[in-house]
Amino acid sequence: MQLNFPHLPEVTSVFSQFALHERLLKAVAELKFVEPTPVQAAAIPLALQGRDLRVTAQTGSGKTAAFVLPLLNRLVDLKGGRVEIRSLILLPTRELAQQTLKQVQLFSQFTYIKAGLVTGGEDFKEQAAMLRKVPDVLIGTPGRLLEQLNAGNLDLSHVQVLILDEADRMLDMGFAEDMERLCKECENREQTLLFSATTGGAALRDIIGKVLKDPEHLMLNSVSQLAEGTRQQIIMADQKDRKLAIERFKQGSSKVLVATDVAARGLDIDGLDLVINFDMPRSGDEYVHRVGRTGRAGGEGLAISLITHNDWNLMSSIERYLKQQFERRVIKEVKGTYNGPKKVKASGKAAGSKKKKIEKKSGDKKAPAKRKPTAKPKANAPLASADGLAPLKKRKPAAE
Ligand code: AMP
Repeated sequence: MQLNFPHLPEVTSVFSQFALHERLLKAVAELKFVEPTPVQAAAIPLALQGRDLRVTAQTGSGKTAAFVLPLLNRLVDLKGGRVEIRSLILLPTRELAQQTLKQVQLFSQFTYIKAGLVTGGEDFKEQAAMLRKVPDVLIGTPGRLLEQLNAGNLDLSHVQVLILDEADRMLDMGFAEDMERLCKECENREQTLLFSATTGGAALRDIIGKVLKDPEHLMLNSVSQLAEGTRQQIIMADQKDRKLAIERFKQGSSKVLVATDVAARGLDIDGLDLVINFDMPRSGDEYVHRVGRTGRAGGEGLAISLITHNDWNLMSSIERYLKQQFERRVIKEVKGTYNGPKKVKASGKAAGSKKKKIEKKSGDKKAPAKRKPTAKPKANAPLASADGLAPLKKRKPAAE
């Protein structure tokens, strides 16, 4: 069933109306949250009932509290020491994991609930030690969670609540298989909440079908989500105007065409000699489409991509997808401060510096028995995700 909230009644509720534990309400008050945001008003009561939810809501909507509060409410009264991990929040990036941990800590400040973080770029052994202490809430990114799982450091079989945050982005990043595997590991869970910023495509539908049970779909990306201070304007344009822009460009009276991916397909312009990717396309196929606007029909072409640290891994995965290395170019007059990651893995992606340190240390001791299996998930990684996105994971060695 799908519920839309295009015009929620000027959110009348207050947090105290939710059936939340008083220790959580105290934290909410401490944080000076008074009115729930629309996503909180919609999701918290249903999540408290134990329903599976699929929520379409963007960052900035208050979505984190919408899943953290019901989650903590379930855990707050559970007795029996800290012997098993009782919830998992799976999300795409280390930064999001850190922000989420912060919110979990703030909301659980008057409880005994403990949370832990497992992401790439952090010390593997320290994480393993943290896992031995068994956090109630585990927050992590797919790659490192699988590494810890394969190293025998992680047991998810007692997870009661599984949350997939920014599921669409995780899929975009090529984590479909890892997500599925981790969801399977949480086989005894009682509730699953899936959040995504977009309604997603086939890959999202697939994972929803596999991991959610009879979910309620809450659609919160609506007018009510937009800040009141945002002026929204439209300019009526004719198809003619678009055509004219392209026509002028074709004839050479304008020299530069600024376009979105809409122009990435189908434009056939003779003598188009340069394509600049202001940001990196999200998939190898999209890259091919954009860049394919130049060098057509045997002509010469040049494609330049501007790479910041956010683009690096995407770029290296596209390099692998195309089996090509892009030429590194420096323009003296506008030299960027970013020179690529300090260290790269065999895949070309950025290596976490701390992880490298452990590898060195483990040379002194006898850790290899544990570290070996960490390579396993990579060996099973697909060459490309089902929807043609460039894989962000390592290729099978045989394919290289
Ligand atoms: P999120 O969409 O979860 O990333 O949240 C965006 C920001 O809104 C965070 O800084 C929250 O602390 C803040 N926030 C979330 N819910 C509320 C609320 N009901 N009242 C005030 N601030 C909120």
